[in-house]
Parts: sequence; C-alpha cells; structure tokens
Amino acid sequence: MKKDIHPTYYPDAKVTCACGHIFTIGSTVKEINVEICSHCHPFYTGKEKLVDTAGRVDRFKKMQELQKVTSKTRKGKAVKKQKSSERKLAKERARVKEEIKDNTTSKTAVKTKKTKTPTKK
Ligand SMILES: [Zn+2]
Repeated sequence: MKKDIHPTYYPDAKVTCACGHIFTIGSTVKEINVEICSHCHPFYTGKEKLVDTAGRVDRFKKMQELQKVTSKTRKGKAVKKQKSSERKLAKERARVKEEIKDNTTSKTAVKTKKTKTPTKK
C-alpha cells in the first residue's frame, strides 16, 4: 500500500442501530450510528414495521382505523343485493296472497293468462 494516501482503517468499527443492536464491521469511521439494520429492517425480520417519515405512518394508520369503522356501518354490494331480493320476494308473496284472497272471495272472477300464440308466416 502506498503511504499517506489511505485513511486509517478500523477492523472493528462499532455500529450502533436505533433498535439497540450493536455490531462491528471494518470501516474507516470508528463509530457509526444507523437508524435501521438487518436486525430490525422489515425485509429481514418479515414483520410489519414501518419507518416513519413526518407522521405519514400515523396518518395511514388513522385512515385504516377510519376505514374499519366505516366499513362496519356501510353495507356492501352483497348485503344490498340480498335486501333488494328479499323485498322483491315479500312483494311477490303479498301479491300472491292478494290473488288467493280475490279467488276465495269472488270465485266468478277467474283470471286467465293471455297466452302468446305464435304467428305462422
Ligand atoms: Zn436495527
């Protein structure tokens, strides 16, 4: 190695992470402070941990919470569909009941359905 051109090398430089993990590496800087390391980065831990930038995570969590609340009260498409079909069924039942009543009270009035007769060319 050429003299006086290389910075001093520390083979056991101390790296301190914000999570508390301390490890040594080879570096030209004796002490290094990092905010995230392989012990706490979600990529390595597989856990969901978000690195906060100016309260954006808090905002996101707030939104998520809000969504949960609204989704509880809001009716989905499936629920709406079911309700409408139930309403239709009730309507149909009421109609049938009415018809039966009509038939039993006035037997003279017998409803006949018009049948479509296919016209031949
Ligand atoms: Zn860490």
